[in-house]
Amino acid sequence: MNLTDAIHGGSNDPGHWGPSVVPIYQTASFSQATAQELADVFAGRKSAYAYSRSSNPTTGALERRLTQLEQGVGSIAMASGMAAISAVMLGLLKAGDEVVASQGLFGGSLTLLTKTLSRFGVCTRFVDASDTDAVTQAVTDRTRLIFVETIGNPKMDVPDIKALARIARDAGVPLVVDSTVTPPCMFKGIDLGADLLVYSTTKFINGHGTAIGGAIVDTGRYDWSAGPFEHIVPWAEKVGPLAFLAYLRNATYRDLGSAAAPFNSFLMSQGLETLCMRMARHCEQALRLAKFLEAHETVSWVHYPGLSQSPFHERVQQQFGGHGGALLTFGLGSKARAYTFIDAVTLALNQTNIGDAKTLVIHPASTIYHDFTGVQQQDAGVTEDLIRVSVGLEEYQDIEGDFRQALQRVKEVHA
Ligand SMILES: *Cc1c(COP(=O)(O)O)cnc(C)c1O
Repeated sequence: MNLTDAIHGGSNDPGHWGPSVVPIYQTASFSQATAQELADVFAGRKSAYAYSRSSNPTTGALERRLTQLEQGVGSIAMASGMAAISAVMLGLLKAGDEVVASQGLFGGSLTLLTKTLSRFGVCTRFVDASDTDAVTQAVTDRTRLIFVETIGNPKMDVPDIKALARIARDAGVPLVVDSTVTPPCMFKGIDLGADLLVYSTTKFINGHGTAIGGAIVDTGRYDWSAGPFEHIVPWAEKVGPLAFLAYLRNATYRDLGSAAAPFNSFLMSQGLETLCMRMARHCEQALRLAKFLEAHETVSWVHYPGLSQSPFHERVQQQFGGHGGALLTFGLGSKARAYTFIDAVTLALNQTNIGDAKTLVIHPASTIYHDFTGVQQQDAGVTEDLIRVSVGLEEYQDIEGDFRQALQRVKEVHA
């Protein structure tokens, strides 16, 4: 990603006083001088803002910056990552359609597919997304999209995005990639064939745990005029590659009412300015911690795709420029030991977020995945002894020191 674009991208709003950042337009609606002008805005004859549930200048600046960083055709920023994922699903699918999705999805996405969309007649075939053949076999003539995460959270599996893009292309459907854990400076979705990118901007893009947000970016690779989405074809005739985003903005996104708050868009834009530098350090620290844990006698196993022994090491080189991300998982052999560890850390916080400047730990089986069945947990790679770590930006020695003393505590308590 281009560091200059991360800092200057998208801010073509001169403002009245020449501010260095786009102001927070904390307003619900916008005036036009005449009735005719407001009518023109509603009819799309005049480009302007009308109501912040549909669009807002502060959020627009964030959207332009994301579009520029991903080299896509357009973006929509939303109130949360789940809002963005829901908008994509509801904007594309109808009863009788099928989704092919990774078993290792984030808990919220799993719930959306298994509990909510299933009630509307949408069926999901869950597969091991890192197994390209399994994805091929799951595609039917009812498949309308393929949905995977770049690195499964918390399964830590890495699908071959290029291969999945070919499968999607052959099936004539879009490949939707949740790139939350590999934000713009780690992963170039457009180059590997992703059609739609979705993320939770709450995580690394915000970077400081200060707001919830999400976004959809259309890379422009999918031809909306030729796909099976009859409701989008008329938009393709009007606005070409922006068809899906135009449809969302005029229907699904507006209907869901999950517009990003202007203040939160301001926080996300600010986070983007330092994303690359932060991400490089997150990844470097995570690799060091993974190596430390792997060598520790009290630790049963470590999953970190950046480790040279990881089955996904090669894909990390190809897809993420050798960076394994900021998340790792490790096991201590039992739930009781995992709890002892989490209770013993003093620097790391026990929280459900990721991508914060602060190191965070959590026991997913009893939190994020507590209401999933044993089989679902197993498929998602969530074991009873698993601890997920989002490695922060603190002094590395302080993080390792905290983990070292907590592991010592586990050894003493469970001798
Ligand atoms: C957190 C997360 C989401 C959901 O985002 P919210 O902003 O919490 O709604 C989706 N996908 C992944 C991979 C996540 O980590």
